[in-house]
Amino acid sequence: MSVVIGIKAVCGACERQQSGREPYVDVGEFHLCKSCSPTYADMRTQTFFDQDGEPLRPREIEEIIAAHLADGGDLTDKLGFGPEQS
Ligand SMILES: [Zn+2]
Repeated sequence: MSVVIGIKAVCGACERQQSGREPYVDVGEFHLCKSCSPTYADMRTQTFFDQDGEPLRPREIEEIIAAHLADGGDLTDKLGFGPEQS
């Protein structure tokens, strides 16, 4: 999952056409706008896949979440977007 900026994309969840400057998350088959992208907390309730297409195990998910929290992040932060800018 990576964030790409500067390419026009249609969100795969809300089907909204995003502006060219709007960041989005590339989840493989489609893009998600920031408001539709999952949070770290969502990793515990949804299935996520690694770069090889294998489902992440609960232990791996908890490691990702723990690393994010250790960096000062929050469970409600959007995946791929880093801590909320305020
Ligand atoms: Zn969306």
